[in-house]
Amino acid sequence: MSDRLSPCEPDSAGRPMDSPLHFSPDAPAGPLLGGGADREGGLDQRRRAGTGPSEADSDGSATARAALLGEEAGGEAGGHLRGDPPAQLSAVDLKKNYQKGPVVIPVLRGVSLSVREGEMLAIVGKSGSGKSTLLHLLATLDVPDAGEIYFDGQRVDHLAGLERDALRNGYLGMIFQFYHLLPELTTLENVLMPLMIGENVWGYVRRRRQLRQTAAGLLEMVGLGHRLRHRPRELSGGEMQRAAIARALVGNPRILLADEPTGNLDFASGREILELLHRLNAERKLTIVMVTHDPSIAEQADRTIRLVEGQLEPGAGPARL
Ligand code: ADP
Ligand code: MG
Repeated sequence: MSDRLSPCEPDSAGRPMDSPLHFSPDAPAGPLLGGGADREGGLDQRRRAGTGPSEADSDGSATARAALLGEEAGGEAGGHLRGDPPAQLSAVDLKKNYQKGPVVIPVLRGVSLSVREGEMLAIVGKSGSGKSTLLHLLATLDVPDAGEIYFDGQRVDHLAGLERDALRNGYLGMIFQFYHLLPELTTLENVLMPLMIGENVWGYVRRRRQLRQTAAGLLEMVGLGHRLRHRPRELSGGEMQRAAIARALVGNPRILLADEPTGNLDFASGREILELLHRLNAERKLTIVMVTHDPSIAEQADRTIRLVEGQLEPGAGPARL
C-alpha cells in the first residue's frame, strides 16, 4: 500500500506532492509516469525517444498535434497562436460514439482543442451536442473511440485504469451540475473523501488531523466554515456546489473541469459560484474548463468554443487575454 504525502504539501520546488508527476514510490510507473521526472525533463525524454506528441507519423496528424500542444501555429478552432506557452491540456481528433441497440450514435466527430495553464475556457453548445461527453473524456472518466488526450504533453487517454486514476486524482478536480455529494456524510467528510481514498488506512489515521485541517480550510475558503458538520440535505444548492468545489480542490488539482456548475442554481447562487470560480482562476491560477449552455456565463470566460453536431464550430479563435 502506498504511503502518500499530503497533496497539499508542496515539495522543495513548490510542486504539490500529489502532482501526477510526483508519484509515491509504489505508484504504478508507466512509460509516461516514471517516478519523479519533472515536467520538462519527462517530455524532452519522450521527444528524444520518439514517443512524444511531436513524433512524426504517417497520416500527417503530427502537425495538428504539435499545433494543439502549442509547438506550432494553431489554426484550429480550439488552438492557440504561435508563441503561446505549450498547452496544459490538449485533445486531438477525439471521436466518440454511443451504441443504442443496433444503432450507433456519433456524438463527437473529431474534436481537437488545447487549453493553456491558467486559462478559463467555456464549452457551449445545445443540449445533446456532446458537451458532457467531451468533458468526461478530458477528465479521463471515459475513453474516446479515437483520438488522443495530453496533460502537459503526456498522453493520458490510453493509460490503464490505475495509472489513469492516479493521474486524474492528482491533476484534475471535477464539479457537476448536481453536486454528487454523498448524502450520509457531513460537508467536511465529503471534502475529505478523495483524501481517504487516496491514502492507505494508516497513512490517513496518522495524518487525520492535518487532513481535516486542510479540508476545513478549503470549506472556510469557499464560505462554508460554519457548515462543517451539516449534511448535504441541510444545505442550499449554492452551498452544496461550494462544498463540491472544496472537494474538487482538496487534491490540489491543476485543472478544474466543471459541467454546468450553475445549471441547477438560482441566479444569485449561480453568480456566487461563478465569482468563486473566477477567484480560483485569478488567485490560484487554476485552469478551468467549464461546460455551460448559458451565453452570459460563457461570455465571462477567457475563451469560448462551441460544439455543433459533434464538432467544434470553426472560428472560435485563440485566447483573448
Ligand atoms: P450535452 O452535455 O451537450 O447535453 P451529452 O454529451 O450528455 O450532451 O450527450 C450527447 C448525446 O449522446 C446525446 O444524444 C445523448 O443522448 C447521448 N448519450 C450520452 N451518454 C450516453 C450513453 N451513456 N449512452 C447512449 N447515449 C448517450
Ligand atoms: Mg451535459
